[in-house]
Amino acid sequence: MFKTLLIVGMAIVSLQAMALSYDKNVPANIKSQMEADLGFMNGIQGSSQTPLHKEIFGQVSGAAYKKFFESHIVEVGMNSCGNGMAVACVIPFMNENKMWLTQNFVKFSHPQIARLMVVYHESRHAEGNNGNWPHDDCPTPFLDDNGKDMASIWTGSKLEGQPACDSTAYGSYGSSTILLKNVAKFCSNCGDKVKMDADMYATDQLGRIDDAKVKKSMLADFDAK
Ligand SMILES: [Zn+2]
Repeated sequence: MFKTLLIVGMAIVSLQAMALSYDKNVPANIKSQMEADLGFMNGIQGSSQTPLHKEIFGQVSGAAYKKFFESHIVEVGMNSCGNGMAVACVIPFMNENKMWLTQNFVKFSHPQIARLMVVYHESRHAEGNNGNWPHDDCPTPFLDDNGKDMASIWTGSKLEGQPACDSTAYGSYGSSTILLKNVAKFCSNCGDKVKMDADMYATDQLGRIDDAKVKKSMLADFDAK
C-alpha cells in the first residue's frame, strides 16, 4: 500500500519537473495560450519533410517538435529584451534555457503558428554549443522586391540596420522558416488556415536571410521532396 503510494507520488514529481515553468509575472492568458500553442504543435502529423528540416528537427511530427522544444526551453519569463522592437529573446548569460517574452508578444495578435514560429526561433537561441546563433545586422537600406522598406511582420517596425537578419539557413530565422514551410507543405492534420499562415509567415522570415546564395539554397530545399 505504502509502496504504491510512494511510486505514484514520485511519478507526479517527475511529471512536474518536466513541465515548462513560468515566472509569476507571465500573464495568465499568455501562459494558457502558450500551453495551447505547444499542445497544438505536439499533435502535428506529417507526410514527409525537406532535407534541411530532417537535419534540424527530424520528421514533421509533434513528437519531434516536443523533443526539440523541451531540450531547449524549460522556463518562460517577461523581459524587455533590451530592444523596443523585440518580441521575445533568450539571454544566455542569465539562463540559456529560458525564453523571455516582451510586451510586443503580449499586445500584438498573430496566428497560432506565427506564435509558434517565435517560440521555435527562441529555442534555437538556446544552443550555446552553436554560439546561440547570433543575428546579423540587416542591410542598410533593406528593401523588398518592390523597393519598399522591409519591416517586421510582428511589430511593423523598419528593419534596416537592426540585428534582425541571418546569413545562414541554420540560425533562428532560417530554422523557423524551414519549420513553417514544412508545416505548410507536409502537415497532414492541419487545417487550410494553419497551412496558409505557416506559408505566409515563413515567406516573410525568409526575407530576413540576407545572403542571396543561402536564400536560394533554402528555396531549393523547400522544393525538394
Ligand atoms: Zn533572434
